[in-house]
Amino acid sequence: MISRSWRSVALAVVVVALVVGIGVVASGLWSVLWGGDDARIEGLSEEVPWEQAIVVPTVAPRTTEPAEPVFDLAQHSTSDPTSRWVIVNKQHPIDKGYEPADLVDVDGERVRAAVEPDLRAMVEAAAADGARVVVRGGYRSYTEQVGARAAVEARRGFAHAERYSARPGFSEHQTGFAVDVDSGSQPSCNLQTCFTRTPEGAWLAERAWEFGFVVRYTEQNSAVTGYAPEGWHLRWVGRELTAHLRAEGIGSLEEALGVPGGPEYVAG
Ligand SMILES: [Zn+2]
Repeated sequence: MISRSWRSVALAVVVVALVVGIGVVASGLWSVLWGGDDARIEGLSEEVPWEQAIVVPTVAPRTTEPAEPVFDLAQHSTSDPTSRWVIVNKQHPIDKGYEPADLVDVDGERVRAAVEPDLRAMVEAAAADGARVVVRGGYRSYTEQVGARAAVEARRGFAHAERYSARPGFSEHQTGFAVDVDSGSQPSCNLQTCFTRTPEGAWLAERAWEFGFVVRYTEQNSAVTGYAPEGWHLRWVGRELTAHLRAEGIGSLEEALGVPGGPEYVAG
């Protein structure tokens, strides 16, 4: 009897131990399988919806957003005559002794070396579109500008010359970055207001910027530049700046670069 009763007790202990053991194991398994989510949700305040709880970012948020690419308008000087962004106007003369060191020949005219590839590419692209852009002027020394200005004055008078031709020492042509072009299809409009209505003038107004040139003096900017419109006078500043002007709708170099201009010559 004793032995049998002991066995019953032992059996009962084993059964209880098994049940408890299975319970513990099952509980552990449950916790492993499901406990994680429960624990995370329990750790959050009740206002946070469950949907937000499971999209908690694992990467720390940036403290600063990546900067928008800002076009640097100070990357080239506007007063150094060798700078591609130099401004020469009636308020900003150029030293009478300045002569660029790297002039190259394009169709019989001289320009700064940096201008050449874009000038050739532009003339070629215009020709492909049926516009015959002919290079007729480039660099002019101070002395040459003395003669050019005197010729305009003799032919058209002082008042006309003031609007169309720079006084010596104030001409953009002395930088080697300016180019005058003719219309190959309507030569009667060369150096005339009607140039803008020739196929060449129209093409340049629309496409010159793609090659780093601006039509420097337009009807819209004459108060700022101080010159009457000259659809034939192009100024090379490089494609980065002309793309910026185009994108922002800026009509003059003076406005883009914050340099004063206007029709009055600087005193002295
Ligand atoms: Zn010119």
